[in-house]
Amino acid sequence: MVSRKSIASVLDDYEDLVVATVCSHSSLQIFHGARQEGFRTLGIAIGERPRFYDAFPLAKPDEFLLVDSYADILDRADDPFGNREVLRWETDREKQREWLTSAGVSMPAKIERPQDIDRPVFVKYYGAKGGRGAFIAKNYEDFKESIRPGMKYTIQEYVVGTRYYIHYFYSPLATNGYALSKGALEMLGVDRRDEANIDEMYKLGAQEALRKIDMRPTFVVTGNMPVVLRESLLPKAFEMGERAVERSIALFGGMIGPFCLETIVTDRLEFKVFEISTRIVAGTNLFIAGSPYSDLTEPGMSTGRRIAREIRTAQKQGRLSEVLS
Ligand code: ATP
Repeated sequence: MVSRKSIASVLDDYEDLVVATVCSHSSLQIFHGARQEGFRTLGIAIGERPRFYDAFPLAKPDEFLLVDSYADILDRADDPFGNREVLRWETDREKQREWLTSAGVSMPAKIERPQDIDRPVFVKYYGAKGGRGAFIAKNYEDFKESIRPGMKYTIQEYVVGTRYYIHYFYSPLATNGYALSKGALEMLGVDRRDEANIDEMYKLGAQEALRKIDMRPTFVVTGNMPVVLRESLLPKAFEMGERAVERSIALFGGMIGPFCLETIVTDRLEFKVFEISTRIVAGTNLFIAGSPYSDLTEPGMSTGRRIAREIRTAQKQGRLSEVLS
């Protein structure tokens, strides 16, 4: 068990701010970026000190804090980067839809009742699950066959198109760039996820035939691939990001720092946003050394480094309370 006091005492040993994160997900990038911006770093791990950092000296935290479980640190995290209010809006899929649609961001249509399924739909459960458990249904029968009882779910139309996960960064402090009502919006990269087993299923033939041998598609994320958008889609990408940020400012004081719009582009070149992730997403790990987009703002700028840069800028300007919550 770790207390707020013990985290604070570890941090107090340093004269400067310390960038701390859990040893998972995008930690290599965050530690690497924090070092580049001159911060000391603290890795929070469960049980034992993870060994894999020894293989990546440029991304190894300066110190480790070992805890019994992540729950130990959740309520006690001192000054997380960003606005914690955003979590209320992200984790509830209804509120997420309210936020994005009221911002004018197009989403896949919602089907209210399973009995109303009249086209291919995508059924997902509440909370980020890395795609686990979601399923496609073509009618009410399919739905009943796959739904897990007792879990909160939402039904969206199944959008046929190509998936792009766009990595943005909103800075309330920036004074130049793609200006918003306050600060500026940056685009640091785009990825697509590898999802098992759906991405490889085509090799085995049509879904109906697969069902006969009891194989069901799943959407479990196993990795990420870099992509660039057709350049004529960039204005739309910025407009969507802008709308999401401006609406977040009106609704809850603004989502700060990295976020990702998870989109499907149809053959009419329209984006449908099926989800917003209001934090650093693992797809940014592709761009530790920069991306085709961030290279045009500052070569070598990763999302992890961008977070550290924002903290440094806020610190220099005496505005830390605007980016930490
Ligand atoms: P995350 O960890 O991103 O929060 P999740 O469990 O919430 O994952 P989603 O990201 O919403 O699930 O969806 C998982 C995958 O399902 C997507 O990456 C995409 O491949 C597919 N998908 C989601 N919504 C739709 C949709 N409306 N139409 C078609 N495919 C979809």
